Amino acid sequence: MTAAPPRPPRSPRFPLGLDRVHARPEGRTRGTGGEVLRPQAPLQHAAQAAAQQAAGRHQPSGLGLDSAAVRQRMVQRLRADGVRVEAVLQAFATVERHRFVDSALAIQAYEDTALPIGLSQTISKPSVVARMLTLLFEGQSARAQGHLGRVLEIGTGCGYQAALLALLGRSVVSIERLRGLHDKAVENLDGQRLGDLRLVYGDGRLGHAPRAPFDSIVAAAGGEDLPPAWLEQLAVGGRLVAPMHDAQRGGQGLLVIDRQTDGQLQRQWLDAVHFVPLKSGAA
Ligand code: SAH
Repeated sequence: MTAAPPRPPRSPRFPLGLDRVHARPEGRTRGTGGEVLRPQAPLQHAAQAAAQQAAGRHQPSGLGLDSAAVRQRMVQRLRADGVRVEAVLQAFATVERHRFVDSALAIQAYEDTALPIGLSQTISKPSVVARMLTLLFEGQSARAQGHLGRVLEIGTGCGYQAALLALLGRSVVSIERLRGLHDKAVENLDGQRLGDLRLVYGDGRLGHAPRAPFDSIVAAAGGEDLPPAWLEQLAVGGRLVAPMHDAQRGGQGLLVIDRQTDGQLQRQWLDAVHFVPLKSGAA
């Protein structure tokens, strides 16, 4: 990771009391049947949840839950939704999502919802993160090696997906353009044993040449066009998964690009999605 600036001590509210974390029992949606995956529409969700809570309809489900148990429930829901890659499910069971969001929102951390992380950005909902990670695992190198190899993530945000990637790849570079979020991710990931994870502050559209090429490239923000550096830094056998404007469809789609053994690029457009915008420059 990059050198962390001096930071205030962790919130005294962590670790959370085990009774404060719960999972919502009902299933949630996937990106099948032409529906738009909206990983990052948290404010409406948060408002709905608050209203439900106020109406007494959103009671914690289950007795004696601890955070490992609620994570396991989330994993069961992902599995029921069709996530089949055991390594991905295991990573979701391991990383404590509630540590990456504001303590006031931690109670919602294991629901399938995006949540605000500050500076108008959101942590993506688990089902969409699982979808992206599964797609990465279906790339040629990942299938051959059984892991994601050298990973580049664009859009660190709070660092949650970076933590999952660190468990699934050999090394991870994660880039964030907003200094405030980069610093928050450094703090969130501090002290976690996550192997070779480097957090970089800068414009992810440029990729990260010093550690290129990458076997897996994943973007958490959607652009109008594909930054050329990402393709230049995609290894042979590697796969890129990114939300991107799909001119034909007229909205955002999940773009998957494979660099085949002969060096040729193969592109496919998958699910309709709605991610926060990929912006230029750092701020
Ligand atoms: N994976 C993140 C999701 C963050 S939301 C998580 O688990 O929390 C997407 C992030 O992409 C935002 O933090 C936004 O600031 C960042 N982003 C947008 N454009 C970027 C760019 N050009 N380079 C790096 N990060 C960018």
